[in-house]
Amino acid sequence: MKRSIETVVPGIRTLEGGGFWVRRPFPTQVIDHLDPFLLLDQMGPSEVKPGEAKGAPDHPHRGFETVTYVLSGEVEHKDSAGNAGSIGPGDVQWMTAGDGVVHSEMPSRKFQSEGGNLLGFQLWVNLPAKDKRMLPRYQELKAAAIPSAREGGVSVKVIAGESLGARAAIDTRTPIFYLHFSLQPGARVVQKAPRGYNTFAWIVSGDALGAEAGHMIVFKPDGDEVELSTVAGAEVLLIGGVPLNEPVARYGPFVMNREEELVEAFRDYQSGRMGRIAS
Ligand code: MN
Repeated sequence: MKRSIETVVPGIRTLEGGGFWVRRPFPTQVIDHLDPFLLLDQMGPSEVKPGEAKGAPDHPHRGFETVTYVLSGEVEHKDSAGNAGSIGPGDVQWMTAGDGVVHSEMPSRKFQSEGGNLLGFQLWVNLPAKDKRMLPRYQELKAAAIPSAREGGVSVKVIAGESLGARAAIDTRTPIFYLHFSLQPGARVVQKAPRGYNTFAWIVSGDALGAEAGHMIVFKPDGDEVELSTVAGAEVLLIGGVPLNEPVARYGPFVMNREEELVEAFRDYQSGRMGRIAS
């Protein structure tokens, strides 16, 4: 049975990191989080002039996962566990901060000097209480390694979960799907979205179900599938997950269950227990 739409909200323009603009459908004053998802940011689309790209210099995380997906541009990351790499067009990085990492997310040297079009996303996925202090873990997939499928006027990249017979290579701690659909004009697709999953669609470009780019559609839990359709064509991120139903205590880069754990996270970060990035 098809789910109906609960609400459609615009992404709010917000200044992030070292001073770059994002479009953020949540958290906002309207929607704090969509359990188990804590935040979604879209960086761009924007034409970045040479020398003007900005990023997020060294900062910590604990208690959740950051999922970075780049469509245009290049982000270079480094962290306190000694990992480093670049996330270019079509690449995904699924970072489980767990007990704590300090990392930097900066434009690559090439993108910084040449500039260019920037379009990317960061999703924050909460971890269940039992995994909040797990060892940090990175899963990185280059564009060509992301499972994909095509059917008629619809193609999909499967970052997490399953769609059109393709199954993700990334391993998630709790059941999640993260699908990037490209719909040609007039196309439609029906995607399984089990009843227990909180499910939303972020419209990157074009139109879907009557909503426009820069808007998020939140679906009601009244069915087990989502139908996406478009008039003019669309790029859509369809994301869903089983809610954790645990208390959320969040402050900046830390997301725990209780206030005391936030205080502890700050203390651990400040005393260097989350490490630092080797220069
Ligand atoms: Mn970060």
